[in-house]
Amino acid sequence: MKKIGAIIVAVSVSILVFLLVYDAVQIKTATTEFFSMNTFISAKVEGINAAEDIKEIKSTVEELDTRLLSRTADTSLIFKLNQNGEITVDPEFAAQLALLADVSKQSGGAFDFTLGAVSDLWNFGGTPAVPEKKKIADALLHSGIEKLEISETSVKKSDGSLTVDLGASGKGIALDYVKSYLDSGRCEKAVVSVGGSVLLYGKGEFSVGIRNPFGDSSSSIATLKLKGGCISTSGTYEQSFEENGKLYHHILNPETGYPVENGLVSVTVISESGLLSDALSTACFVLGTEDGIKLAESYGAQAIFITADKTVYTCGSIENSLKLTDSDYSFAEG
Ligand code: ADP
Ligand code: MG
Repeated sequence: MKKIGAIIVAVSVSILVFLLVYDAVQIKTATTEFFSMNTFISAKVEGINAAEDIKEIKSTVEELDTRLLSRTADTSLIFKLNQNGEITVDPEFAAQLALLADVSKQSGGAFDFTLGAVSDLWNFGGTPAVPEKKKIADALLHSGIEKLEISETSVKKSDGSLTVDLGASGKGIALDYVKSYLDSGRCEKAVVSVGGSVLLYGKGEFSVGIRNPFGDSSSSIATLKLKGGCISTSGTYEQSFEENGKLYHHILNPETGYPVENGLVSVTVISESGLLSDALSTACFVLGTEDGIKLAESYGAQAIFITADKTVYTCGSIENSLKLTDSDYSFAEG
């Protein structure tokens, strides 16, 4: 009898151990949605540590905002730079700012992350209204990347009123931090979206909808198949208002201080780098189709430009993976 008892215990223990091990190696899925960096964030992760990965992704984004990027939290380096004129930075952030300065130069100033004083006047984050002409002209005097000195250890403003605004690249930067975290773990696959910027991480193919610039956020005009990377869209629909029958949106021409008017309604850029996909989507929007294509190509990025008359331009051999699903839209000829 003793022997049978011992066998039963041994079998039960084996089953329990098997179940525990099986559970530990099983691929799990976890999701989250939260608000940070002034935008909606969602993440879906597959892997054996999916629940922990989700928690880490959330804290990575929140910490990045409060420690580095926020314009309004007094704990952030950008806030301190705007207030005090000088900050000490780590090599990673210094390299990111230097790359943003490079995009600014390569775009001939079309991408300008020192336009904060002008953006503030338009107040797109609050109750927007067309500012007085004179105020825009004055604020423009306190912008320009040449008024920032970026070294490997510090950033210094030569104009006390200049306001750094990483609104056009912060979401992409967040994706790069999330990606480095995922690289250090055992995540199999993830889709992380920070506002209009999305990280597609892991093996296999991803199918992404290209948003209808004239529809709501769930309507798309095309599907794009990608092997991974970061994809960002800048569109007139993100933040806009109407005054006296005219539509004003949040992507500004740094030469005039007014919203860009060049016939484009959205630009989507795909790159391995989240920072580049986000910064280039804004830069290409400001430059317009012809110069925007040259800029995207110079960084090895792929791009999709959509005009108000529903013509779609692409660059970086993307056309074969892009399928238009709305018959109102068509590819540009040639
Ligand atoms: P979104 O933030 O809606 O994803 P973008 O990435 O295009 O869109 O960033 C737009 C934001 O960038 C604006 O709200 C403003 O804060 C800032 N911005 C506006 N014009 C420019 C510009 N020419 N260069 C750099 N940043 C800009
Ligand atoms: Mg952008």
